Amino acid sequence: MHFISTRDATHRATLSETLTRGLAPDGGLYVPADFPSVDPRDAPDGSLPAIAAHMLRPFFAGDPLADRLDTLCQDTFSFPVPLRDIGQQTAVLELFHGPTAAFKDVGARFLASALSHLNEGADQPLTILVATSGDTGAAVAAAFHEKPNVEVVVCYPKGRVSDRQERQLTGWDQNVRTVAVAGDFDDCQRLVKASFQDDVLSGEKRLSSANSINIGRLLPQLTYYAAASRWYAARHGAVPGFIVPSGNLGNAVAALYARAMGSPMRPVVMATNANRSVTDFLDDGTWNPTPTQETLATAMDVGDPSNMERLRHHWPTIEAVRAEVDAHLVTDEAIEHEIRRGPSTWDTIWDPHTATAAAVRARVGGPHWILAATAHPAKFDTVVEPLIGETVPVPDALAAVMARSTPAPVIDPTMEAFRRFVL
Ligand SMILES: *Cc1c(COP(=O)(O)O)cnc(C)c1O
Repeated sequence: MHFISTRDATHRATLSETLTRGLAPDGGLYVPADFPSVDPRDAPDGSLPAIAAHMLRPFFAGDPLADRLDTLCQDTFSFPVPLRDIGQQTAVLELFHGPTAAFKDVGARFLASALSHLNEGADQPLTILVATSGDTGAAVAAAFHEKPNVEVVVCYPKGRVSDRQERQLTGWDQNVRTVAVAGDFDDCQRLVKASFQDDVLSGEKRLSSANSINIGRLLPQLTYYAAASRWYAARHGAVPGFIVPSGNLGNAVAALYARAMGSPMRPVVMATNANRSVTDFLDDGTWNPTPTQETLATAMDVGDPSNMERLRHHWPTIEAVRAEVDAHLVTDEAIEHEIRRGPSTWDTIWDPHTATAAAVRARVGGPHWILAATAHPAKFDTVVEPLIGETVPVPDALAAVMARSTPAPVIDPTMEAFRRFVL
């Protein structure tokens, strides 16, 4: 089982190589050369680590990481991922019980464990660059902090993440450093991408990335969709559809991977915020990335989602894309409406991201839908609390991470400034 670049199918790489490099040398994204056929119902038991190892085994065959697969899956899913029924033949897959209270803990913990292991004995640490719209950076910082053989540089758009997100991003020490960029998320993403083409930086450092451009994010994420489809079928005797709050599309593409590999799943629907490049693409078939627009679901404020390149690689025509996935746009007004009615309608407090999925649930109709719950509402207290008129209790793990905050330096969104900071 090998991986290829979205831009050059003749470029082959092993799992370890793709995880270490992040981006392919030609600037493309790594994708599986083909999808192995794996049914989650054949896993030895129904626990998430067991299903995850079962789903990922073909990708690990013959790789230096092969005998680490079970440990990796246990390290990654060291926290519960409950599938909770909320009535009206709807369930919520709660992906936010990790250290930073968002689903990005999953990919970050998988990568941290894999990369730290792969770099044992190297004479220079691997430098992981992360551009974050809020949750990725925090998850990566928490997952890599104090891990040997790896260091992390996190950059985030100043003033465009929530106060609590910012406190999670800053205040790290030792092998984790954070910088605020005076710009938006696309500026941050551009700086990270350009770093790999930068002769000075790539000469001085061994660079890798932990954004959703790294296939090491998608692989563990596909496993919870596979697991949820098995759990749902066992509980309700029905095949569920999935609604996924989407920004950079890493989580939604992971769901499509799980289904392509043979997990029993009905439609996958992306819920986007007011950033409309994806819904416009599905409507009229032309891909026109738009400038990023700020919304209440900040971690989904992406005008030019990088995983579109993976989506269009696997499903190259608009007809193929439409057959695979649907998308619905949810405005800030609709997000507020869902959060407000969450406690009475679903007995649930939504965060602004998961609220987009709840809004789409009302539109798709029919039974048997699973909503991917991507963040804990306590991370977005300033949005959520005024709408529901009550305080959201902060989970212990989140409180511990936030307690360590100190301000990060701010730089201009230029390569020169970023290079200086990294070096
Ligand atoms: C990152 C994030 C998303 C969007 O996920 P993508 O994989 O980028 O589409 C949704 N919700 C939350 C809370 C996030 O942190």
